[in-house]
Amino acid sequence: MTVYNFSAGPAVLPTPVLEQAQSEFTDYQGSGMSVMELSHRSSFFDAIIKDAKKRLRELMNIPDNYHILFLQGGASLQFSMVPLNLAQNKKALYVNTGSWSKKAIGAAKMLDNVAVEVIASSEEDNFTYIPDITPDMIDQDAAYLHITTNNTIVGTAFQTIPDAGKVPIVADMSSNILANDYNVEDFGIIYAGAQKNIGPAGLTVVIIRDDLLGLCEVNEPMLDYKIHTEANSLYNTPPTFAIYIAQLVFKWLQDLGGLPEILKQDQEKAQLLYDAIEKSSIFTSPVRQDSRSITNIPFVTGDEELDKKFNAEALAAGFENLKGHRSVGGMRASLYNAFPKEGVTALVAFMEKFEKENG
Ligand code: PMP
Repeated sequence: MTVYNFSAGPAVLPTPVLEQAQSEFTDYQGSGMSVMELSHRSSFFDAIIKDAKKRLRELMNIPDNYHILFLQGGASLQFSMVPLNLAQNKKALYVNTGSWSKKAIGAAKMLDNVAVEVIASSEEDNFTYIPDITPDMIDQDAAYLHITTNNTIVGTAFQTIPDAGKVPIVADMSSNILANDYNVEDFGIIYAGAQKNIGPAGLTVVIIRDDLLGLCEVNEPMLDYKIHTEANSLYNTPPTFAIYIAQLVFKWLQDLGGLPEILKQDQEKAQLLYDAIEKSSIFTSPVRQDSRSITNIPFVTGDEELDKKFNAEALAAGFENLKGHRSVGGMRASLYNAFPKEGVTALVAFMEKFEKENG
């Protein structure tokens, strides 16, 4: 049975990448060792990490005044590192668009010297839309404005990045990095857990503008962006195998035609599913039309029992991890870059069949 993996993360990876990793698993390019066994200071690994950074820079058009860091601790550690580095004794602005934004806000609030202000929220409407952010809402003395560009659980995404004036925008881009047409220069910091569009869990990518380094007033080297930047992400042992897989994923994306091509494919996949939902008499999208994510697409029948039945039958038919997040229920299809279009076509056909039988 063909299995389609709709997981929100860790998520589907490109088959050619897995196959290449398999073929060099025990002997990386004649080294006689697995990538996992290589020293992070070896010339082999040095070539891997440099190539991974170069490819990511090319893919995202990252200007020279931005640094790429490969860290650990997940996006969740960034919830604390961002305010620790940037907002000591300053105001930090947040937009609350879902559970992950709330966690970021919560982590900042735990710090004594950070004044957190939530400037907009869609919580009153179950986070079903992205609030408008206008320049007059942004205190120009603030340390940063934090947004979650794609809200993995509720399926919303910023369609455009707000104008924050001179206040740097810090973006949690965990679930739509490499699947958007944002401009890196609109951000001060971009961070993302790798386990959706980049590679295996264990790696966190941080892209940080030069002028935001050296502001950390906390004497803790592992939490200081400047220290990691100066050490080229080798201050301590990095997640070497995850970086290697990320390198292969970046190469896969470039060979495909880069972001413009993958974005076209992502939009087509999303459109197929949204069209099916629109057409359906039993499935609906809980998300406001102008705020919809092309990456994480929730849908519901409005009847918990029917959702349960759909999820059980879908699972039996090979549609893995379609069940919505435990906090919202229903269904959610995560259509990351490596998710094949055939999987969406198959899901749509399955939904139509289910509707005929249960409508
Ligand atoms: N932010 C977003 C938008 C996420 O989707 C997730 C994980 N699903 C996180 C943060 C947390 O990431 P991690 O588990 O890497 O800490």
